[in-house]
This record gives sequence, C-alpha cells and structure tokens, in this order.
Amino acid sequence: FERTKVLVLGAGYAGIQTVAKIQQKLSRHTLDVTLINKHEFHYESTWLHEVAAGAIEWHHATYSINHIVDTLKTNFVQATVTAIDKEAKKVQTTAGEFDYDILVVALGFESESFGIQGMDEHAHTIVSPETAIAVWEEINKNFNRYLESGDNNDLSIVVGGGGFTGFEFLGELSNTIPELCKELGIDRNKVKITAIEAMPKVLPMFPDHLADYAKNFLKDNQIELMTGTAITAANDQGLMVKVGEEEKLIAGATRVWTAGVRGNQLMEKSFEGVKRGRIIVKPDLSIEGHPEIFVIGDCAAAMNGEGEGARPYPTTAQIAMQMGELTATNIGHIIKGVKTEPFNFIDRGTVCSLGSHDGIGIALGREVTGRRAAMMKRIIDTRAIFKVGGPILALSRGKLLNI
Ligand code: FAD
Ligand code: NAD
Repeated sequence: FERTKVLVLGAGYAGIQTVAKIQQKLSRHTLDVTLINKHEFHYESTWLHEVAAGAIEWHHATYSINHIVDTLKTNFVQATVTAIDKEAKKVQTTAGEFDYDILVVALGFESESFGIQGMDEHAHTIVSPETAIAVWEEINKNFNRYLESGDNNDLSIVVGGGGFTGFEFLGELSNTIPELCKELGIDRNKVKITAIEAMPKVLPMFPDHLADYAKNFLKDNQIELMTGTAITAANDQGLMVKVGEEEKLIAGATRVWTAGVRGNQLMEKSFEGVKRGRIIVKPDLSIEGHPEIFVIGDCAAAMNGEGEGARPYPTTAQIAMQMGELTATNIGHIIKGVKTEPFNFIDRGTVCSLGSHDGIGIALGREVTGRRAAMMKRIIDTRAIFKVGGPILALSRGKLLNI
C-alpha cells in the first residue's frame, strides 16, 4: 500500500499551517509528508519591521521548525528550492530532487522595486530576517559615523512607501531612535526621519479618522510624512521624488524601501500566467489543469468572487494561514476521493501597530486605537504561533509574556 507523497515548499505562515493541520487531522498511514524550507527555522514575517528597527532581536521572531514537525508524520528538509517541474512532478533543491503526488507551493514574498532606477542597489528592504537585520545595522553604522563626522546627514533616515510596513516600521523607530540617541549621546532633534508615500491618502483601508490618528502619531514623534509624492529613483544620498515638474532629493544616509512586495521569483520560472510572482488560483487554491498543485500564501492570487468585479485578496499572513488550513483539509478530501472545498476568507480584522504601545485597527468589527490596539496586535501575533505550535510554543515564543 503506497502512501500519497505530499511535498510542501516553504515554512512561512501558509506552509507551516498546512503541515501543522495535516499532522493534527490526517493519518500518517495514508500520507508521506515532506516540508522543505530554506532555513532551519520559521520566521514571523509580520514581526520583521521590529527587527529592522532594532526593537527585537531577530531570534525573537523565529522558532525551530523541529518544534512543529512530528517526525513520525513529517520529514523536514532544510534546503533551497531551485526549480519546479510540474509535468514531471519533480522539485529540484540544494539537497537533491524530490517527487510528489500532491504539491503545496508556499514560497512567500520578495521585495518589488518596480524597476525604479537605483532602488535595488541603494535601498534596504524588510522582507527576510537577513534584510531586516541589515536595516538596523545600517542605522547603527550611520549614527556611529556621525560621532566622528558631526555631519547631520548621517542621522537622516528616509522610508519609501507609507503602506502598512512603512507605518509599522516608523512606529518602531519612534521607540528605538530616541533610545539609540540616548545611548550614543546624540541630540534626537538632529535626527531627520522622512516617509514618502505616492498616494494622497495613507492606509486607505481604514476610515479617515484612524488614518489621521496614525499620521498624527508620526508628527508627534518628529517623523515627517510626504504624501502624494512619488519616488522616482534612489542613489547613495537618498531618494529622488517628483514634486510638480521638478525632481528633488530627499536625503537619507539610511534608505529603506517598503513600497512593494511580489510573490517568489520561482513562480514565473515554474508556471505560466504568473504576474508579480502570483498565479490566479482556482476556488480550492489549486491551479488550472493541475488539481494536484496548490499555491497558497503570497504566491497566490485568490479571487474574492467570480466575474468582472472579482479582485484578488490582499497578501496577508491572516489569509496565508487560512489558506494553509484549507489546503490540509482539501488534501484529506483528495485522499478520501471527496470533492475539494472552496476558500472562504474569514476577516478577523486588521491592526497596524505604531510602536510597542500604540496603534490603530479594526478587530472583531470594532475600532481600536492606542494601547488597546497595541495589545490586540500582541494577541494576534501570539495567536499565529498558538495555532501552529499550541500553548507551550505560544507561551515561550509569543508576545504576551515575552519581549
Ligand atoms: P512567507 O511568510 O514569506 O514564507 C515563505 C517561506 O518560504 C519562508 O520561510 C522562506 O524562507 C521560504 N522560502 C522562500 N524561498 C524559498 C526557496 N527557494 N526554497 C526554500 N524555502 C524558501 N500580514 C498580516 O496579516 N498581518 C500583519 O500584521 C502583517 N505584518 C507584516 C509586517 C511586515 C514587516 C511585512 C513585510 C509583512 C507583513 N504582513 C502581515 C504580510 C505577511 O507577512 C505575508 O502576507 C505572509 O508572510 C505571507 O505568508 P507566506 O507563508 O505566503 O510567505
Ligand atoms: P503595500 O503594497 O501595501 O504598500 C506600499 C505603499 O507604497 C503603498 O501605499 C504605495 O502607494 C506606496 N508606493 C508604491 N510605489 C511608490 C513610489 N514609487 N513612491 C512612493 N510610494 C510608493 O506594501 P506593504 O506595506 O509592504 O504591505 C504588503 C502586504 O502585507 C499588504 O497586503 C499588507 O496588507 C500586508 N501587511 C499587513 C500588515 C498588518 O496587517 N498590520 C503589516 C504589514 C504588511
């Protein structure tokens, strides 16, 4: 009796949730599950802005995948996936070749600079533990250089993009920059932090009064926000913007690009019809012509309905986790020969943190601001760990008792 080979690529929110749910619900006598991930650890992508701002150490945002993997049920391989051959049903990795009966692609997101001149070379991003660590190192390097040079420019930080990641990163900086200044004996008033957003409105998914709360938070913390201002280029002095017909430099010794993400580049190399690393998936999250391949998380464009008005769901951890749960259920259905179920997103709300003690959000249908929003964010962050690793992992790695 042959067990069905399930191969899960990526141990982010979508992949790890798939494996956790398979382990909880499905029998090892029918399934042979292999999880492949670049690192030995899972990282909470949703905490990376805190690493980038030096609010937490990177290892606080990670846990060993071995904490999750039940070795009786799942084989974990630390390797980088290099190619997917959907016709041969084989995946190439740095640890060799793997075949599968059912494939789950959950390879996550990367930064997208939209071809803006100089951006890839001259700006940091917040998309992985490595890139987030590099941001905080850059700030420290520049602030320490100021102690030698006395040049205020060394204290300038410019953030491109005033979306969720931009706001949450700036929120953390409002806590950590005054601390760093105190530590190094630098006057905080000399530090210039500027955020640049192309659209006239920020955080448009919230009502205006909540977006205004976030804008006022920045102002109160000496962070300048430029709206309706598109970034056109980056260089080693800062970010170039267009104001009217004129190009202007917004100085930044530290330059951080938070203005866009895309799905994994392997998606274009492996599948047809992929745009910005995302493929349109069928309602059950499999791809057209391949009921044995599920694409979930940030590599998937799952539509929120049918017909002309249908839009892809945003790429969020909340959605990636729900996709992982459904995929485990659907794998169970395939084994039993039962019809797969469609994805139905349950929106539990959204909180945008503004440092460790402030934020804005709508949770369980209610607006929250300030400390309540910050507490809600901690609960959301801890719940993500609880859902995968249970109470022990949630207590040791979550944010209710730690950090
Ligand atoms: P990822 O979390 O990106 O996981 C992909 C995994 O695949 C990673 O472990 C990666 O190492 C691995 N991998 C990648 N390539 C390879 C390869 N070639 N071989 C092997 N392994 C590979 N969403 C929310 O809902 N709420 C939030 O509060 C929130 N905050 C965020 C804060 C920040 C700073 C950022 C950047 C994003 C935030 N998001 C948030 C969005 C959220 O992080 C993503 O939507 C989510 O991480 C997507 O999950 P995923 O499993 O698809 O991918
Ligand atoms: P995003 O695409 O949501 O926001 C990028 C911002 O950059 C946009 O406001 C856009 O107008 C701006 N921008 C783009 N090009 C620009 C340019 N040339 N010049 C100036 N501004 C420019 O990206 P993100 O904030 O990284 O979020 C990615 C995903 O992760 C989203 O789905 C988001 O909802 C999710 N996320 C959620 C949370 C949360 O729930 N707390 C936190 C972070 C990220």
